[in-house]
Amino acid sequence: MDPLPIGSAGALAAGSFLAWAVRGRSSAVFGPSLWRGNPARPAVALTFDDGPSESTSQLLEILDRHKVPATFFQCGANVERLPAVAREVVAAGHSIGNHSQTHPLFCFRSPRFIEQDLRRAQQAIQSHTGVTPVWFRAPFGVRWFGMRRAQRRLSLTGVMWTAIGYDWKRPAGAVVDRLAARVSNGAILCLHDGRELRVRPDIGVTLDAVRRLVPVLLDRGYVFETISHLTCPTT
Ligand SMILES: [Zn+2]
Repeated sequence: MDPLPIGSAGALAAGSFLAWAVRGRSSAVFGPSLWRGNPARPAVALTFDDGPSESTSQLLEILDRHKVPATFFQCGANVERLPAVAREVVAAGHSIGNHSQTHPLFCFRSPRFIEQDLRRAQQAIQSHTGVTPVWFRAPFGVRWFGMRRAQRRLSLTGVMWTAIGYDWKRPAGAVVDRLAARVSNGAILCLHDGRELRVRPDIGVTLDAVRRLVPVLLDRGYVFETISHLTCPTT
């Protein structure tokens, strides 16, 4: 194969850097972001995106059965649609994070759009649950120019994940196998109690996966913590 002209190679390298900056789990290029907790402690965090949904209550029952706390990255539009469910999540002792208002793909959007969308979600969650989120998970894990400023103004820290379950497209057994194989001390696991802004989404796979995964991880000696607890430097 002919070598690429220097300009093209440079463009390719810049392109792959940008791809990592936008989507890489360890990238903090567009704002403060973390993707795991303390590797010295056998603790993990379950995180659920895209809720609340009509089926979130079923997930809360499963978590309650095992007395397992989790962090729910909620979309403002879903909170406005189902405020009682959002409050149920808080009442059950779980933590709530910001997952945007409308679940947009933020790449190529303006800094103004990004800040407004995050701010609307922050306000929706605050007014319906009384909680002011300090954690933010970008929809699709996509960060962009302007996010750093928006996060700073809203006092939000980004949270990616150590492992993601693909629970929106894979069967429950595959989700459990994938997460169980990738879990380690301090792991942040990403699942979904909604499907973007869909009304009455089918989250049967997620429920089934959580039912099976939690006992497996408890058997291995992991404790479950919220993101705030998992990432607290003094614990
Ligand atoms: Zn999402």
